[in-house]
Amino acid sequence: MTPLEKAARELVERLRFIHEDEQYKSVWFVNQNHNGPYAGPNYVKELKALEAALEQGKVCPGCQGGKLVRISHNTYCPMCHGKGTV
Ligand SMILES: [Zn+2]
Repeated sequence: MTPLEKAARELVERLRFIHEDEQYKSVWFVNQNHNGPYAGPNYVKELKALEAALEQGKVCPGCQGGKLVRISHNTYCPMCHGKGTV
């Protein structure tokens, strides 16, 4: 794993963790009570793209040998021709 990949994985993991934090969620409840539903910019699309990019190159859980590649919406192992379960 490269330093860039490690840092990207840690950022994704941290963002997901913060999104599930009750104190963080309460900020959105307070905002909604004062301002209505949030309709401003977000980073959902970019985060999903980063997660999809990080899936590429993971070792196949099926054969433990192939590197997974993403084809359309499927993650695929060219070594065992199986679909990964990532
Ligand atoms: Zn495989």
